[in-house]
Amino acid sequence: MHPVAPEKSPGWLRKLSQHSRPGRVVNLCFCVVLLFSTILTWRETVVLEEAYISSQRNNLENVAREMDGQLQFNVDRLLFFRHGMQAALQAPLAFEVLRNAEAEFSRKRHEADWHIALENRRTLPLNGVSDAFVEQSELLSRDNPLVTNEFTATLELGYLLRLSTITKNHLSRFSPRMLYVSRAGFFLSSEPVTRNITEQFYEQVTSPWFQQQSERLNPGRGVRWYTSFSSDKQHEAQMVTASVPLNYQHYWFGVLAAQLSVREMGDFLLRAVEGETEGEYQLYDSRMNLIASSDPRVTPLTQEVQAQLARAYEDNNRGSLREMTRYISWEKLRNFDGVLLRIHSLEEGLKGDFGRISIALTLLWVLFTGMLILSWMVIRQMVSNMSTLQESLQWRAWYDALTRLYNRGALFERAATASAQCRQAGKPLAVLQLDLDHFKSINDRYGHQAGDRVLTHIARLIANKIREGDIAGRVGGEEFCVVLPNATLAQAREIAERIRECINRREILVSKGHTIRVSASIGVSASDDEQERYDFAYLQSVADRRLYLAKEAGRNQVRAED
Ligand code: GH3
Ligand code: MG
Ligand code: MG
Repeated sequence: MHPVAPEKSPGWLRKLSQHSRPGRVVNLCFCVVLLFSTILTWRETVVLEEAYISSQRNNLENVAREMDGQLQFNVDRLLFFRHGMQAALQAPLAFEVLRNAEAEFSRKRHEADWHIALENRRTLPLNGVSDAFVEQSELLSRDNPLVTNEFTATLELGYLLRLSTITKNHLSRFSPRMLYVSRAGFFLSSEPVTRNITEQFYEQVTSPWFQQQSERLNPGRGVRWYTSFSSDKQHEAQMVTASVPLNYQHYWFGVLAAQLSVREMGDFLLRAVEGETEGEYQLYDSRMNLIASSDPRVTPLTQEVQAQLARAYEDNNRGSLREMTRYISWEKLRNFDGVLLRIHSLEEGLKGDFGRISIALTLLWVLFTGMLILSWMVIRQMVSNMSTLQESLQWRAWYDALTRLYNRGALFERAATASAQCRQAGKPLAVLQLDLDHFKSINDRYGHQAGDRVLTHIARLIANKIREGDIAGRVGGEEFCVVLPNATLAQAREIAERIRECINRREILVSKGHTIRVSASIGVSASDDEQERYDFAYLQSVADRRLYLAKEAGRNQVRAED
C-alpha cells in the first residue's frame, strides 16, 4: 500500500510526510515550540532577576554610602580632637581658671573619687581616681612630667565637647558619646557620670577599645572600631566604639573614644527601608557579630552563610550570595571595620515590581503552554482520525469489503505487474477464472445474507489454497479470479482442481443448524499454452471462455482446454 500525499502540497512537505508519520511531525513541532517558549520565558526571568538583584545592590550602595558618611564624620571628629589635644599638650593655655583647676587636681588626686567642674554650662566636668588606684595598675601612671599639660588639655577638650553636645543632633545621627580616658587616672565624658567614678573608670580602662590602643597593639596609632555586647542578652550589640590613642612625644597619654548608639544605628537602617516593601538591612562587625538591623525581628544568618560571607570579605569589598530563597547583598563600609548586608526574600521580591512582572510572565507561559497542549491534543486527534480515514479509504480502494480479497480494479493492476515481471523473467503466468454454481438458488432459498456468508467462506478457502505471491480477487458477484505467477497450465490445473475439490467438500453453515455444500466451475489458461502471450486481459478471456465450457459440461469441474 502506498500512502497518498496531497497533490498540491510543496515537495518538502510531501517528502516529510512520506518519511515520517504526521503524528510524529506534529509532536516534534509542538515540542520545539514548547522548548523555545520555555527557554525564552526562563531567559526573561533570569534577566529580571538580575535586574532585581542589581536594583537591590544600588539601594544597598546608597545606604552604605550614607552610613559611611556618618561614620566618617565621627572618625574625623576624633582625629580633630586628638589634634587639638596634641596642640594643647605642646602649648597649654595659661588661663587662671585652668591653673586653679590644676591646683584643685593636686589637692584631690589622693581621693578615691574626685570631680573637678569649671563653668558647667561651657565645659564638661573632669572625673578622676586616686593615686593609689593608678599605682595598682601597670597600664596607668601619673609620672609623666607632662601630666599637668594633659590635665589642662583635657579641660580644653571639655569646652569643645560641651559645644559639640549642644550641636550633636545636627551633626551626627548616631548620637556618639565622646570620651577621653587618660592613663593618668581621669576621664572626661560628654554624657553625665551617673555611677561611681572609680567603677566607671575601671570599666573604661579594662575595655578592649582602651587596652588595645597601646603602642604594641596599635602601632599605626589610627582609629579602631570595637563592638561591645551586653552581658545579659547574648549576641546583642550595645555599643560600637571608635577609639584613637592620644600620643605626644612618643608617650601614650590616653584614648579618645566615640561610642555610637546601636539603637540609633538600627533606627538609621529602619529609616533606610522606610517606603520600601521589601528587604532588611543588617550591620555586622568584622567578626560577624550582628550590630544593628532594620527589622526588630532579626532573621539571623545561618552558620554556613556567615562562613561564606567571611570568606568573601577577604577578597572583595562587595558581593552577593543566595541562601535558599533569600538573596544577600553585602558591602564593606569604608570607615568601619564591618559590613552592611541587605537581605531580601524571594517572597518579598515577588511582591515588588520585578516580582509582579515575573509572575505575569510565568502566568503567560502557563497560559501559552496550556493552550499549546490543548491545541496539540486537538491536532493529534485530528491527525489520528485522518490517518485512520486515509488507511480505510486506501484499503477500500484496493480490497473488496465482503471477501477481503483484491477488488476488480486492484486485481487487474496487480495482475498487469505480475504479467510484466513473468514476461521479463521468462517464467509462465497462469489465470484461474472461478464461478460458483447455481449461486442464485442459494440466495433464493436461504436469503442474501446466507449467500454473502458463502461468498466470504469461499474467498477464505481460495486465499488458503494459494501461495504467497499469487493474486486472488473478486471480479464479479460470485466470480473470482486467481493469477498464478511462475505456474504452467498443468500446475495451474492442479491448483484449480484442489480449490474445486476443497470447495465441494466443505460444509458451509448458512443458517442455524443448517449446512450446505456448494460447487464451483473453473476455467484455466496459461501463457505457456498461449504461445507465450502474457497479456492478462487475453489470458483472462481464455480462462473465462473455458469456465463457460465447464458450466456447459455440467458444472463442478475444471476446464483447461477449449
Ligand atoms: P450458474 O453460474 O451456475 O449458471 O448459476 P448462477 O445462479 O450462479 O447464475 P449467475 O452467475 O447468473 O447468478 C449470479 C447470482 O449471484 C445473481 C445474484 O443474485 C447473486 N449475487 C451476485 N452478487 C452477489 C452478492 O454480492 N451477494 C449475494 N448474496 N449474491 C450475489
Ligand atoms: Mg456468475
Ligand atoms: Mg454462478
